[in-house]
Amino acid sequence: MTPIATAPMSSFHTTGTDAFTADDRKQLEADVEAYCQELRPIEEICYLEHRFNPAIVDLAKKYNLLGMAVPKKYGGRGSDSVTYARALVRINREGSGPRTFFSGQTSIGQYPVLRYGTEDQKQRYLPRSCSGGCTMAFGLTEPDAGSNPLEGTTTYRREGDKFLLNGVKYLISNGTIADAIVLFAFPEGVTGAARRMTAFIVDTAGDTFEKEQLHAKPGLFTCDTAMFQMNDHPVRADNMLGKEGEGFRISMHTLVSGRLSVASGCLGAIEDCLSECIDYCKTRKQHGKEIGKHQLVQDHLAKIEMARAASEAMVIRAALAKQASDDNPGDAELYGDADFKVAQAKFFASNAAWEASDHAVQIFGGRGWSELYRPFRHLQDVRVCRIYEGTDEIMKMKIAGKLLGKDYDAFK
Ligand SMILES: Cc1cc2nc3c(=O)[nH]c(=O)nc-3n(C[C@H](O)[C@H](O)[C@H](O)COP(=O)(O)OP(=O)(O)OC[C@H]3O[C@@H](n4cnc5c(N)ncnc54)[C@H](O)[C@@H]3O)c2cc1C
Repeated sequence: MTPIATAPMSSFHTTGTDAFTADDRKQLEADVEAYCQELRPIEEICYLEHRFNPAIVDLAKKYNLLGMAVPKKYGGRGSDSVTYARALVRINREGSGPRTFFSGQTSIGQYPVLRYGTEDQKQRYLPRSCSGGCTMAFGLTEPDAGSNPLEGTTTYRREGDKFLLNGVKYLISNGTIADAIVLFAFPEGVTGAARRMTAFIVDTAGDTFEKEQLHAKPGLFTCDTAMFQMNDHPVRADNMLGKEGEGFRISMHTLVSGRLSVASGCLGAIEDCLSECIDYCKTRKQHGKEIGKHQLVQDHLAKIEMARAASEAMVIRAALAKQASDDNPGDAELYGDADFKVAQAKFFASNAAWEASDHAVQIFGGRGWSELYRPFRHLQDVRVCRIYEGTDEIMKMKIAGKLLGKDYDAFK
């Protein structure tokens, strides 16, 4: 990983013995590098066979990467936002599949528990998830509720010392491998203003929770994308996350974390396309010379490098803003700044990665149009980055809305 001079030295959430030191950062970078190197040959085979890669999780456990951004006192590595973003950049050089697993596990799985959980919830879920005993996921999307989660129909009702949940969640990363999912539901039989969304930490064990992998996808073959249905699925009363009715706010805050993961991943895809193309430009010969000596090929390479440089600047700027917001959880201005800069980074980097991987495919010529080579795999995989965790359209409305002010809120 490229060391980042601008990375703050303080921990993600804590100070003192729990602080994230320069040595911790070095060790984390080394572990991520070793993880990626061991993962690569297995990932290549799984990708070509279009199947889930269990080594993504197994090796993450081996290298202690299952809670990179979770404070040490809960069993994680205690990384700051910039270092965690950098780790995701490196991991996404191996593909968006592995990086999407870490999004589900940490960016949108562990993060809301850390941010909104009671001490008891943190103790019950975080150490276990960091040590490999509890894979996490985030379930907001439903068949009829995507960009607007308030159109969801999943319900909960209280029965004795538990809640019973009913409904279907759709397109959920880690959905069939997760042991616990942070998900969102509405009070059963309630309409009007009182119908507010609430977050729960849901254990997935039991036959009232039916799950199914979604295979009809043109990329991201090696990670798990799923749907699941809950039929009177019991959830402990003390597994409500945050206050009743606070679910929308929790989901929106969590998506800021998820979007930063997507933006970081896209930067990784661009970096990998660039290094693959530099090698290919120097080895492939046509018309009597290396193709890198043809000016029109250089045009493609220059565009990939500009996509990389600009995306990197936006990702680091967004990660610093998110760090500042996480360090001051009650500060609305810092949250607004993080939300804005992360939306910009996600929108920019996902489009930059789409274009950069297309340039890379072109440089590879006929070989480029093949899953056997890395550029085409990135091209296939990064297309979804303009859709999940908030579409391009939603990001643009967020950005314009912030510039114009509340009266111009296009969501209303
Ligand atoms: C591989 C994959 C993994 C995913 N992982 C997760 C996960 O882990 N957890 C989870 O909860 N979800 C997950 N999702 C779901 C994802 O976040 C949604 O697909 C996304 O938010 C868009 O919702 P939708 O698909 O319902 O599209 P829709 O909301 O139906 O949108 C359709 C189109 O209409 C546009 N549109 C919608 N509203 C407006 C508007 N107001 N103004 C302008 N245009 C608008 C959209 O931009 C889009 O172009 C995943 C999706 C995929 C494909």
